[in-house]
Amino acid sequence: MDRTIAVVFDCDGVLTDNGSSWQNIHTKFGTDSKDGSHKKTLEMFLDGKITEEEFVEHDIRLWKSVKSDIHRDDIMRCYSGVGLMDGARDVVEELQNRGIYVAIVSSGVDLFVGAIANMLKVDDWAANGFEWDEDGFLERGLPTRVYSHNKGLMVDKLARINGFDTSGIVSIGDSSTDLSMKIGESSFIGFNPARERALNSFLESGVPVVESKDLRDIWPHIFNGEEFSRTN
Ligand SMILES: [Mg+2]
Repeated sequence: MDRTIAVVFDCDGVLTDNGSSWQNIHTKFGTDSKDGSHKKTLEMFLDGKITEEEFVEHDIRLWKSVKSDIHRDDIMRCYSGVGLMDGARDVVEELQNRGIYVAIVSSGVDLFVGAIANMLKVDDWAANGFEWDEDGFLERGLPTRVYSHNKGLMVDKLARINGFDTSGIVSIGDSSTDLSMKIGESSFIGFNPARERALNSFLESGVPVVESKDLRDIWPHIFNGEEFSRTN
């Protein structure tokens, strides 16, 4: 990884200190434990037994069973307590200072990911989301843009649009599915592994793993052992 031209971050659990921007909504509506149906659906999804769209429709049905009219502001409020990961601002800024292109590819919620993208002033971003009616009330899920199990499609798209050779791309993720970001000759760093499942997948794939919750700790893996300078 000596000549990095682009760094692509997952959002949830990497740039932000939340497990999942979908989970944040369940927590707010109290639907994460309701009859265990969310947990079961999540497992089915992780195992590839239901599609992304089916998963989202199931989520929306659960939320609407608690609150029939869900406004965009209700969703935004689910993220009021979520903070940036330690070092996120510094790392993005310093990468851009070095002329490196920074993007976010997330299968999380676009309202949230877009806000983070603006806050960190990244060069581009992609995420999933919802359709709203003209008054801002939730209608349905949008067609999937970023497939959790194949996030590489979007990384590849970014590479093609910008003319990047895949060997210059480094992706950073916290879930086993994020390994799908590793396309062509590109590299991957496992950061803050979300679950046992993630850590095991990272170790099996032989990618570097950073188990801290400080994003500055990815620096030596991108820049040949160089430590992030905490004074700049
Ligand atoms: Mg994540």
